[in-house]
Amino acid sequence: MNNKIKAGLYIHIPFCLSKCAYCSFYSIKSISLIPDYLAALRKEIKFYSKSFRSFDTVYIGGGTPSILSSEHLSDIFSAIHKTYRIDAGAEITMELNPGDTSLEYLKMLRTIGVNRLNIGIQAFDDKLLKFLGRRHSASQAIAAISTAREAGFGNLGIDLIYGVYGTGIKSWKNTLQKAVSFAPEHISCYQLSLDKKTPLYKKYYREGWSLPDENTERNLFFINASELEKTGYIHYEVSNFAISENLRSRHNMKYWRHVPYLGLGPGAHSFSGGKRWWNKPSVKKYLITLANGEMPVENSEKLTQEQLQLETIFLGLRTKDGVDLGVYKQKYGLDLLAEKKTMISTLLANKLVRLDNNILSPTCAGMAVADSLALI
Ligand code: SF4
Repeated sequence: MNNKIKAGLYIHIPFCLSKCAYCSFYSIKSISLIPDYLAALRKEIKFYSKSFRSFDTVYIGGGTPSILSSEHLSDIFSAIHKTYRIDAGAEITMELNPGDTSLEYLKMLRTIGVNRLNIGIQAFDDKLLKFLGRRHSASQAIAAISTAREAGFGNLGIDLIYGVYGTGIKSWKNTLQKAVSFAPEHISCYQLSLDKKTPLYKKYYREGWSLPDENTERNLFFINASELEKTGYIHYEVSNFAISENLRSRHNMKYWRHVPYLGLGPGAHSFSGGKRWWNKPSVKKYLITLANGEMPVENSEKLTQEQLQLETIFLGLRTKDGVDLGVYKQKYGLDLLAEKKTMISTLLANKLVRLDNNILSPTCAGMAVADSLALI
């Protein structure tokens, strides 16, 4: 691995105390498996000691990492530090459920090295939170932010969900304004999408409800940008806003820039040297495989040059950084501007992309249709 580019480490905690009505992520409620899980995780951490040496970002995600006790988390961090070098200035993020917040717990997180919290707030309205099946209340969401500040966290991200049936543009604007009033360093706005297996999808189906149509979806997307940008947030990725360039999620930027990352835990994905691999999603299979001294990898793929090129465009055009055409040419020997002349001219004419200093980047309207931009 190129030593100059620092990889990111992702640790997946696949446990949730209850299941949110819209969630299709794999997680289990059997918290009695946590000790076995941590033992397996320690083994997996060691497996990669030769191929990954150091990281400058660590992200503990889930599931719900904040159901782990201080002993559990110290156990994970001590295994990480024993095996890898974590840069002094590393960004160390943990996802936090507002229902799991106490000053003592948050101070403990700071002590073990967590310096960034991503709080799954989703909404500031009790009815809406109940509708979504979240296990926290609006007052717990607000308390989580102030307690995190009291514990000394200077880098907070909050996640919000929009496009929920029965909420309109006015209520979404109120949510954004409320979020901004707490001055978090980072805000992620995710549009509700429903997998057919989720209880909320079944409810929508039963009641004859639908997700927002394309027009409403676009309006809501533009409201995110206008409401947050006018208060100083930078719209740096389709769903993500940071109060300053250096407060972007450094870890997530690695995913969008093809920087190597190691994902540990069930279902976690990794990428390095043009290869992607992912773990078995089931906790039980993960435990059995590691107990047998084997890697819990389910499958892997070596990306072809063409796939890497396409991903560079797809991922680049989701971010404000866009695609540096000079770097692209150097890497893949292709002059994108010449190759896709007609298509790029159309996108420029429709103000979906801009071209400055040989960098092709999406406008806000382009970000709203980022997936189709990648089809150039
Ligand atoms: S807390 Fe997150 S991972 Fe767990 S059920 Fe809810 S949305 Fe899914």
